[in-house]
Amino acid sequence: MVERAPARRSSGYLVNLIGPGYDAAERLGLLPALSVHDLGLFTTVLVRADGRPKFTVPAAVAEAALGKRALSVFRGDLESTLYEAVGNHAEIRFGTTVASIDQDTDHVRVAFSDGTTQHADLLVGADGVHSATRTAVLGSGFRVDLPYLVAAFPLTHPVPDVPESSATTFIGPGRTAAIVNLSPQRSSAFFTYRCPDPAAELSRGPVQALTAAFGDLGGGVPDAIRHLEKDPAGAYFDAVSQVAMPRWSTGRVVLLGDAAWCVTLFAGHGAALALAGADQLGAALQRHDNDIPAALSEWETGLRPEATKRQALARRGMLQYAPPSRFHVWMSDLTIRAITLPGIRGLVRHSIEHASR
Ligand SMILES: Cc1cc2nc3c(=O)[nH]c(=O)nc-3n(C[C@H](O)[C@H](O)[C@H](O)COP(=O)(O)OP(=O)(O)OC[C@H]3O[C@@H](n4cnc5c(N)ncnc54)[C@H](O)[C@@H]3O)c2cc1C
Repeated sequence: MVERAPARRSSGYLVNLIGPGYDAAERLGLLPALSVHDLGLFTTVLVRADGRPKFTVPAAVAEAALGKRALSVFRGDLESTLYEAVGNHAEIRFGTTVASIDQDTDHVRVAFSDGTTQHADLLVGADGVHSATRTAVLGSGFRVDLPYLVAAFPLTHPVPDVPESSATTFIGPGRTAAIVNLSPQRSSAFFTYRCPDPAAELSRGPVQALTAAFGDLGGGVPDAIRHLEKDPAGAYFDAVSQVAMPRWSTGRVVLLGDAAWCVTLFAGHGAALALAGADQLGAALQRHDNDIPAALSEWETGLRPEATKRQALARRGMLQYAPPSRFHVWMSDLTIRAITLPGIRGLVRHSIEHASR
């Protein structure tokens, strides 16, 4: 396994592991290790632009929305858990990328940036939404860029103006800002907003871009942006893109996770699908006794409907994170308020369980 990052990363943004991702973590025996890092559910206060509370969404509502089979972990903790699970079985080379790929019907030959080469039966490109493996083997043109940007970063200490052990969320036309204040090393900030020219916006860097897009807000937002100024490179700051491919493999190269089917953060299922995809790919290869074409075909047929469904749901989910108008914000507030009613909560859980089947 080769990884471009120079070393393991801690922290990162908050990831909910639900549905097929939770099931995969269970099958892979990862639940005990992941549970240690589970942040649990917390109260969210919906706030106005100046930070004053609008209304509170109790943790029980999050439980109704996510169900009992859910974990909330930092991406870095998920990465560490996976590393601990395979570190003794697989060679993992950090600071290394794939330089070139050649394949024939029986093998794939991969040259790495460290000058080494490897012959293998199968190359799995799990290198994210900007996958170099995808570009090298199948060319460009599969990324569908959406007019949104996202920034997420850890806060080394809780910010004032956000209640302890809870989160505040501001949702306004075209944008969302959320601050999660759990404890030192367990707090984070998340921003997403609509933007007609994501590429130009990215070139400004996260501090300038977020200051322009969210600098008018009160509450914990100014503190979070000041926090970012200390370590802008530690932030996740990217455009939002989906990946749509007619096939996830070609010959002896297969793409996995965001590289193949990125659903975006608006789906809340990207990590879950990446984990489930890896689990199911391994199982298919085992089942087909390493008949790779048969395994890849069965695997893709089984997984594609779920990825397609999550991509469609994500496109609808954008409206929740970046409502087009004040009217949509008002409607969304009404819906969230309704969900806080205990009777409706049960219905929400029922419909979510139905949707995740
Ligand atoms: C703010 C935010 C919140 C999210 N929340 C959730 C959530 O609640 N639930 C959920 O399920 N999903 C969530 N997601 C989506 C989820 O993070 C992704 O879908 C998931 O990380 C995809 O996993 P992956 O392994 O396919 O790709 P990645 O996580 O992107 O991993 C790709 C890896 O490949 C490495 N790499 C890249 N290029 C190369 C190269 N050329 N050579 C070698 N290595 C390379 C990268 O360094 C990285 O380690 C969220 C995403 C964001 C941005």
